[in-house]
Amino acid sequence: MDYRFEHDFAVKSDQSDQLNSFRNRFYFPTHKGEEVVYFTGNSLGLQPKTIKNHIENELIDWSELGVEGHFKAKRPWFSYHEFLTDKISKIVGGLPGEVVCMNQLTVNLHLLMVSFYRPTKKRFKIICEAKAFPSDQYALESQVKFHGFDPATSIVEIFPREGEYNIREEDILKNITEHGNELALVMIGGVNYFTGQVFDMRKITEAAHGVGAYAGFDLAHAAGNIKLNLHNWNVDFACWCSYKYLNSGPGGVAGAFVHEKHHGTNLPQFAGWWGYDKTNRFKMEKGFKPIHSAEAWQLSNAPVLSMSAHLAALEIFDEAGMEKLISKSKQLTGYLEYIIAEINAIKFDRVNKLEIITPSNARGCQLSIVAHGYGKALFNKMIEHGIIADWREPNVIRVAPVPLYNSFNDVYRFGKILMEIL
Ligand SMILES: *Cc1c(COP(=O)(O)O)cnc(C)c1O
Repeated sequence: MDYRFEHDFAVKSDQSDQLNSFRNRFYFPTHKGEEVVYFTGNSLGLQPKTIKNHIENELIDWSELGVEGHFKAKRPWFSYHEFLTDKISKIVGGLPGEVVCMNQLTVNLHLLMVSFYRPTKKRFKIICEAKAFPSDQYALESQVKFHGFDPATSIVEIFPREGEYNIREEDILKNITEHGNELALVMIGGVNYFTGQVFDMRKITEAAHGVGAYAGFDLAHAAGNIKLNLHNWNVDFACWCSYKYLNSGPGGVAGAFVHEKHHGTNLPQFAGWWGYDKTNRFKMEKGFKPIHSAEAWQLSNAPVLSMSAHLAALEIFDEAGMEKLISKSKQLTGYLEYIIAEINAIKFDRVNKLEIITPSNARGCQLSIVAHGYGKALFNKMIEHGIIADWREPNVIRVAPVPLYNSFNDVYRFGKILMEIL
């Protein structure tokens, strides 16, 4: 696209955007009577207007049917998670049998590590990215300790090189080779939450398998943001949350992927009745017989209210389609990158005071910006002027124009407001 930092350009781009009408399916918070520039869909996605109705339908079925809703509700609660499966499998690129919606993200990470992190005296190490999301760090540490190992010698963190913000892929691959037969697992965020860097999950998985280790990914910032192909990439397991790019509400139900090659094998797992063979579940017999799919990792019956919110959001995703979303995402984030370069040119005589640290060749829709010479005060000013972005210590502003509901005009307004503040 031939970008321009002009209102007309933004308006015209919105008019020719096939996904433009999807914006009206969401509620936008307002600031002084005007819709905010909402660039934090990477933290909490906006509310789809259909969610209320979906939840209400379940409340009505519950009020009218009581326990019979498990089988007689319009969408029977017994198998409620199944209504989500096809839609989420398209988003993460898994076969329907490889995905399941359940629990919360960190819970799923633990459950999957029960199966995929089984350290021995010889093979006990985990490779992860430095400064992983804190919850992931705590999960890894506590798993290592649970097995009687020492995090200091078992967890290998890959850092960016001196003076760089992003981790070089070659450094991850080199470490996988070096730790080789001591390596049990590679567990990395598919998109780094801080920098927005996207990792090559196919290559990392291949390298991990090459030394006899498993590869798993936390897709909190990837699901609904970038193109994923977990099955073809041969990823062993993955998990994600649904309240960021997937817009399913605060604390919404999370998801998990287990590659089909691991179904029906004797991987150890924590079991609950919802993972039990469906046809015989209510015989309530002794001895766990797992479902031959990712559903085997389920413990409890479906949280129907939060799943109905998830369903409403996934229906919108399904209608838009990941291909179109990703194509718009590239244009929209490209526009934001252009506007920031323009601001540097106009305000700072082409000095990169607003430095984008997200790699331009490996990103989704998020840009992480270091505003040199400006502290948190700049961010606070943004909030005062109706931009909702996100601040990460020590000095990073994260902005994510989300293709499902953000517009070129949002990006233009962001630029204009930022110009004024600076
Ligand atoms: C958002 C996020 C989480 C949050 O975990 P919950 O269990 O959903 O509270 C964990 N890990 C990463 C990488 C995240 O981005």
